[in-house]
Amino acid sequence: MNLFDNFKDPQLCKTLLARIHAELDGELRFMEVCGTHTVSIFRSGVRSLLSEKVVHLSGPGCPVCVTHDSEVAAFLELAGKNAIITTFGDLMRVPGPDKKTLKSVQAEGARVKVVYSPFDALKIAQDNPNDKVVFLGVGFETTAPAIAATVKVAREQGISNFSVLCFHKLVPPALDALVGDPELQVQAFLLPGHVSAIIGVEPYRFLAGKHGLPAVVAGFEPVDILQALYMFVTMRNEGKIEVVNAYTRVVSDEGNPKAMSVMNEIFSPCDALWRGIGLIPGSGLEIRDEFAGYDAMRVFDMQLHDVPEIKGCRCGDVLKGKMSPDKCPLFGKACTPASPVGPCMVSTEGSCAAYYKYRI
Ligand code: SF4
Repeated sequence: MNLFDNFKDPQLCKTLLARIHAELDGELRFMEVCGTHTVSIFRSGVRSLLSEKVVHLSGPGCPVCVTHDSEVAAFLELAGKNAIITTFGDLMRVPGPDKKTLKSVQAEGARVKVVYSPFDALKIAQDNPNDKVVFLGVGFETTAPAIAATVKVAREQGISNFSVLCFHKLVPPALDALVGDPELQVQAFLLPGHVSAIIGVEPYRFLAGKHGLPAVVAGFEPVDILQALYMFVTMRNEGKIEVVNAYTRVVSDEGNPKAMSVMNEIFSPCDALWRGIGLIPGSGLEIRDEFAGYDAMRVFDMQLHDVPEIKGCRCGDVLKGKMSPDKCPLFGKACTPASPVGPCMVSTEGSCAAYYKYRI
C-alpha cells in the first residue's frame, strides 16, 4: 500500500459520504476552481455519488479555458511574425478568430513547437541564435514561477532572443470578482491545491472575511474531496465561516516563498482579460520594465485587439458556473473532444471535456 491508497480508501469514502448526507441541512452549492479537481471529481465517481442536495459547480480553474479570445488571437498573430513559437501542448487546438488554431497555422508553415517546460523553450533559443523564440505564458500561480525563473536564467546567461508572451492569471482576484456576481449562488469554495502550494492560504482569507463564504484547500484524491465537503457541512452546522488548509501534506499556510520571490522579481500584477468574465483588475501578471526585453508584447510591438467570440460557444457561462456543459446546444453534437468548438472542450482540464468523457 502506498501513501495515496489511504486517500482512495473506499470504506473511508463511504463513511464520509454517509456523514455528508446525514448531517447536511439544506443544499450545499460548492465551486471548485481547479481543472485537476474538475477531472478528479468526475473520474473518481465522487460526483455521481453525491446527493442532489450537493451541487457541484466548476469555476474558472482551467488555465487554457480562461485564456481570452483576444489573447488567443495574439498567439496567432505572433505565429505570423516569423518567430519560433513555443507552447505547452494544451494550447495547440484552442480556436481563435476564423477557427484558426496554433495547430492549423503550424500546418500552414508557422514555426510552432510544443515543449514540456519553459526551459526547453530557452534551449531552443540557445540553439537558434538567429531566430526570435517566444514562449506562450499561460497559466495560474502554479506555472508562473517556472516561467519567471526561465526569464531570470535567460538574463543571467545573456540569451537575448528569448521572450515570453505573458498572459498569466491570478486566482484570488478572479474569485473576488466571481462572488461579486449576484447571479452566482456559491456557498463554499473548494480551493486549488496546486495554486495554494505556491501562494499559501492567506490570499483567500477575504472569502470568509469579506464575503462570508467558507473555503477549503483540498488535495485531489476522493478522500481529500469528500473530507473538504464534510468540512463545509460541519462548519455550517457549527456556525463557522473559515478558510481552512486541509491539504497540509503539500500546502503550507505561507506557500512557497522562493517561488513567490522569483515570480515577484520578474512579474508585477496587472489587469487581465478572462474568457466569459472580462477584465478583472489586478488579476494578471505582466513582465516588469526591468525585463522588458523578455516581454514579447514589447519586443514585437503588439497590442490586444477586440475579436468576436466563438459563435454559439457558451464557455463563458460554463466557466462562471452558470451553466453545466450539457446545457450548451453544441455539447456532444457540433462540439466534441475530437472536434472541439471552444476551449472548455479542448483542454483535458476543461469542464466540457470532463463532462463529455465521464458523463456520456
Ligand atoms: Fe463551448 Fe463546446 Fe463547451 Fe459548448 S460544449 S460551451 S461549444 S466548449
